[in-house]
Amino acid sequence: MKFIENTKLKCPICGYEHNYQQLVENNSFGMRDLDTRPPGMMRSLMHLMVKKCPKCNYASYDFTKPLKDFEKQQMCDEAYLAILNDSSLNFAIKKFMLASLLLEKVDFRQAGISYLRTAWLADDAKEMIIAKKMRSKAIKYLELSLKSADDENIKLIIVDLYRRIGMFDEASDLAKDYLENVGLPKYKQNILRYQIQLCEKEDVLDHTIPGNHNFANSEEEEDNENNC
Ligand SMILES: [Zn+2]
Repeated sequence: MKFIENTKLKCPICGYEHNYQQLVENNSFGMRDLDTRPPGMMRSLMHLMVKKCPKCNYASYDFTKPLKDFEKQQMCDEAYLAILNDSSLNFAIKKFMLASLLLEKVDFRQAGISYLRTAWLADDAKEMIIAKKMRSKAIKYLELSLKSADDENIKLIIVDLYRRIGMFDEASDLAKDYLENVGLPKYKQNILRYQIQLCEKEDVLDHTIPGNHNFANSEEEEDNENNC
C-alpha cells in the first residue's frame, strides 16, 4: 500500500515550485491516546502534514492557498526568524513551530491543535523542554478558542495538557469542574476520572484511553510499551 507520494507544489506566497512528500492515504484505525494523538501510520508520518517553502520559508498545512489575511511581513517578524534561525531544532519541529506561529493570527483552535502536534514531534525527538513549551502554547490557544466556541473534546485535551506539563492541580480542578458542570457522555466522564487518578499519582506520562488498549493495533501496542 502506498502512503506517500512526491508531488510538485507551488508555494502560495512566492510561487516557487518544489517537490514535497504528501500523504496519500493512511491506516490510522485503532484508538487514540488521551490527548487524541492518532495511532498507526498517521503517527509516524504526521511530520508530512506541514510543508515549508525552501525559498521564502513560508510554512503551512495548506499549500493550495495562503492563510487568511496573510502578509509576507509576518515571515520577517522576530519570533518567526528566531525559530527559522535556531539550528538546534530539527526540521520537522521547526516547520510545525513556524506554521503554528502563523496560525495564531488566523484561528486559535487550529493554532492550539498545531502546537499540540508540535509537542508530539518533540516527544518523539526526546526534546522535553520544547515539548513542554509547545503544550503550554497549545493550552493558551485552545483556552482562547473555547471563548468563542464551546467544544467538549477541546476541554478534555486541555485537562490532559495540564497534566502532561505537571500542572496537576489545574488539571484535576478542571476535570472536576467539567464532571460537575458539563453534561458529558459516560466514556468522556471516565476519561476525566482517569485523569484525576493520574494527577493524584503526579503522573505526566503519555497514556492511552483506559480499556482501549486491547483494541489498538499491534503497532500501537508497541508504541504504548515505549511510552508507558
Ligand atoms: Zn515560497
